[in-house]
Amino acid sequence: MSKEINFKKELIGNFGYPVWDNPTEAMVEAAFAHHDMKFRYVTTEVKAENLKAAFEGLKAMGYKGFNCTIPHKVAIIQYLDGLGESASIMEAVNCVVKRDGKYIGENTDGKGFMESLRTVIDPVGNNVLIFGAGGAARAVSVELALAGIKHLTIVNRSRNRGEGLVDLLRSKTNVEVELIGWQGDHEVAEDRDIIINCTSIGLSPEVVRVPVVKETLQSHMVVCDLIVNPPHTPFLSDAESRGCRSLDGVGMLVNQGRIGIKYWSGVDVDPDVMRKKIEEIYS
Ligand code: NDP
Repeated sequence: MSKEINFKKELIGNFGYPVWDNPTEAMVEAAFAHHDMKFRYVTTEVKAENLKAAFEGLKAMGYKGFNCTIPHKVAIIQYLDGLGESASIMEAVNCVVKRDGKYIGENTDGKGFMESLRTVIDPVGNNVLIFGAGGAARAVSVELALAGIKHLTIVNRSRNRGEGLVDLLRSKTNVEVELIGWQGDHEVAEDRDIIINCTSIGLSPEVVRVPVVKETLQSHMVVCDLIVNPPHTPFLSDAESRGCRSLDGVGMLVNQGRIGIKYWSGVDVDPDVMRKKIEEIYS
């Protein structure tokens, strides 16, 4: 019997600029190798002005899909054939999937976070406080709103960005939402159940603390940080020292990768392989 020979692999990309510090390829390739999948994930530096040409090239080469990151999450939408529900509410795409020959934009950031959060607490009916109003806060808050939380507080430094997110949530979801400006150390109200740092404060190599009055963090609260580098942030350590349950950003990263791979290939990969790779990278 002759041995089957097939050198062809299915291609997945990642468009961004800069992308040198994006760990997704290492994490996703670890899953491809573990499951012996004939897929390749290629991190590609694409500047804003080259997005259209890069996408045309990717289509010509028959890519199964790709991730897109800064600065393409909004700009890519004009070239796509359609959007999934949360991507269309967020007006931001981080994952493109080829379905029946059409390239559809999805947003897996918020979905990845929700899967991670549900390992600690069911957010339905809870009061949530989010620090930040950028892209990550938008993804997380839309998914929380769609999931049916009771109340959402957005705390953000710049009023404009905060108002933009609150307007979006009020116009496109039913969530009860308020905006609080961030001046000095924020005092977390006692009736908050889930606190999420969606800012870039604490991202390595900066050693900056999240401006919060630590004593207002209480043991009934679940405290989450989206930062993955370092995986365990000073904000989480502070929360743990107050008796809170904590959730790091690695779970979100791993889950969004796992959801993307499922979309592109249909394969449900082992998340532990990807977490191990991320922890190895940032140890
Ligand atoms: P954006 O640049 O879109 O938003 C950054 C947010 O952080 C803004 O709300 C900004 O406030 C706030 N911020 C930054 N510095 C300060 C500061 N010194 N004081 C107060 N507020 C500050 O970034 P993203 O939303 O895309 O990403 C945020 C972080 O989330 C990233 O650092 C990344 O590490 C993490 N992330 C993690 C993911 C994961 O899978 N775990 C996925 C995506 C992101 P202002 O509006 O006032 O400027």
